[in-house]
Amino acid sequence: MSATVITNIATLVTNDPSLRDPDPLGLVRDAAVVIEGDRVVWTGESSKAPATDNRVDAGGRAVLPGFVDSHSHLVFAGDRTEEFNARMSGRPYSAGGIRTTVAATRAASDAELEATLTRYLAEALRQGTTTFETKSGYGLTVEDEARALRLAARHTDEVTYLGAHVVAPEYADDPAGYVALVTGEMLNACAPHARWIDVFCEQGAFDGDQARAVLTAGKAKGLHPRIHANQLSYGPGVQLAVELDAASADHCTHLTDADVDALANSATVATLLPGAEFSTRAVWPDARRLLDAGATVALSTDCNPGSSFTSSMPFCIALAVRDMGMTPDEAVRAATAGGAAALRRTDVGRLVPGAYADLVLLDAPSHVHLAYRPGVPLVTGVWRRGVREV
Ligand SMILES: [Zn+2]
Repeated sequence: MSATVITNIATLVTNDPSLRDPDPLGLVRDAAVVIEGDRVVWTGESSKAPATDNRVDAGGRAVLPGFVDSHSHLVFAGDRTEEFNARMSGRPYSAGGIRTTVAATRAASDAELEATLTRYLAEALRQGTTTFETKSGYGLTVEDEARALRLAARHTDEVTYLGAHVVAPEYADDPAGYVALVTGEMLNACAPHARWIDVFCEQGAFDGDQARAVLTAGKAKGLHPRIHANQLSYGPGVQLAVELDAASADHCTHLTDADVDALANSATVATLLPGAEFSTRAVWPDARRLLDAGATVALSTDCNPGSSFTSSMPFCIALAVRDMGMTPDEAVRAATAGGAAALRRTDVGRLVPGAYADLVLLDAPSHVHLAYRPGVPLVTGVWRRGVREV
């Protein structure tokens, strides 16, 4: 197997845990990375790099791990431009807008859904995302939820069953009946296609008892829990996530001190989704408070057509630095190693021997430019599983 060295890297972000102290990003200056097959086999200073068959000159630019987007909703159809436009004209966001996308998604063919999914994955890849999670949640029938997961599983291992996104319109007067469906027949149909189970624990969606029933049923079927929690209001979601050892509590915008303490003393990652606050003109989650308490923080896009229609991890990094109290280093770490932790993965989100060769080359000398130059398409090279894709 032939090896490739990427050399003349001004700033290499490794997220190597053995280099964590004092630098949380495991930065190496004047660095090189050696790739063999789909894996990283060596990282270090350029002058010490082993000889290889192939050589790529990074030209004094920055290399970092491919972004790990641990929260997206990409199996959908339809458009919610009007809703966004109205909301930006003063109407508040409520969870019910999801039903608009449900109607369009049910009406779409498999080919239409997959074409949309593929389009946004390509868009995300061009912006440096090499690992992504995505969910069902716009079908809300047994057949439509299973279909969404089947389509998603063709493109990623990180597939999440979110039948409990909102109560299906057919069950508007019988939410208990819908929870029984989600934890029964629908779960049976969906579990073979998914790794994770998720629930939108929020006023207007599912309360704490319902959320517990959904996640517990999923665990019994071998799915691992994650949760949409504390987005629009305070609530029981974060505590439930910690209690059930969920990999991640996502949103975390409205947290009590007890919620922050619970996250800081658990293996549950706080995944912040600033695209949602941006696109709904809502109050920002306080990343500083979580980090200072010792919680692990991830940044993800929440890419979906209603409340956060961005596939851009660099955009989320810039927002987190500008408005959520994160340093540029913390935001880059949250978008790489943080996302990996939210998926309980150690083979992505870091550039160390044995990890997947998922790399981003920036047209900039430092990862700090992701926040310093917001909105600028700095990603100029992307390797995924050792293959240059961009
Ligand atoms: Zn979401």
